[in-house]
Amino acid sequence: MSETPKSALHPASLLAHGGGGVDPATGAVVPPIQPATTFARNANYRLVSDTHLYARDDNDLVRQIESLIADLEGAADARLFASGMAAIAATVRTVKPGGTILAQSGIYWGTTSWLRKHCDHAGIALIEADAADTARFCETLAESGPSLVLLEAPSNPWLTVADIAPICEAAHAAGATVAVDATAATPLLMRPLSLGADLVIHSATKALNGHSDVLAGVVSCREADSSAWTFIRTERHDAGAILSSFDAYLLLRGLRTLALRMERMCANAQTIAEALAAHPAVDSVLYPGLPEHPSHERAKAQMHGGYGFLMSVLVTGDGANALAVAGRLALIKRATSLGGVESLVEHRHTIEGDATGVPENMLRLSIGIEAADDLLADLTEALGPDRR
Ligand code: PLP
Repeated sequence: MSETPKSALHPASLLAHGGGGVDPATGAVVPPIQPATTFARNANYRLVSDTHLYARDDNDLVRQIESLIADLEGAADARLFASGMAAIAATVRTVKPGGTILAQSGIYWGTTSWLRKHCDHAGIALIEADAADTARFCETLAESGPSLVLLEAPSNPWLTVADIAPICEAAHAAGATVAVDATAATPLLMRPLSLGADLVIHSATKALNGHSDVLAGVVSCREADSSAWTFIRTERHDAGAILSSFDAYLLLRGLRTLALRMERMCANAQTIAEALAAHPAVDSVLYPGLPEHPSHERAKAQMHGGYGFLMSVLVTGDGANALAVAGRLALIKRATSLGGVESLVEHRHTIEGDATGVPENMLRLSIGIEAADDLLADLTEALGPDRR
């Protein structure tokens, strides 16, 4: 990087430069894609470069992104994975057979679903508990003695924001590691490591990349010499869930505009949440930026610069009515995923069924960077004046 020390720069400036500087050899302001899977040795059988042996762990673009994300998180180290689920799986596999995991309930269904299968397969006790009630969650923690506590903040699709600091205190007293999936916040809005978490996870598929064209995940740690981090680092190296060089290039390109995208997405989401909360065809809006949301005060204390791009809307009427509303949307696309520049809607009950208690009249919205007026016009048209 140039003369300015990285630590003196705001996250937006670090991001705009992709966490790197000008290539001293060529002056290139964008790093090259590095497709090589293997790196040569000289005639004395010494590696030409000590830090380049094999691409599973030795890709410069991947390293640049890991260093950028570690800076954003205030982390000691970070590792990219081939998807958010691969990052979560590496974290969960720190728990040995016979151990216990305490996971927040009502989180991303893919995580819950995989956790249930994995724990059953591996002989790990899985306890799912609501993290909205901090005292009860900490009681469960003390009683069950887990080795890993897994939180998701804000949670998908309920937008619950767990009180990370006291949960970490209780977890550490019980000898547990705390991992927080902060995908819906990004490191720009929330830094769980500064609240005491040991590990922070993101599906980089979502807002970090932001263009719905890369699958990626990342785990960052507070202490690089912890046993959990040693396991995760080794797991990434040995088990091979690595990002391809081309995907790393796209992810870095996406990251460069993260601050700008988040500003717009958060502002759009706040405007839309407020407007929908007052709409007669809406029962309630779950968005931590609304004062009436049960997690609002906690979100205000833990999140900075906005409340994110994700919200769930409970429309009046039944599941058929919710599906009809989704069906009438024109600008907002009906698709899974979140955090992209384009707004998406999803009827989660179609995916989860009755496995998690997601109500049939819930529509989850991921708000993008379109003009708020266009998004509101689309939603208002779909909801109708009062279509009950
Ligand atoms: N964490 C959260 C909060 C998610 O919403 C998702 C996917 O929707 C994931 C993790 C999984 O990420 P990926 O799809 O990149 O595997």
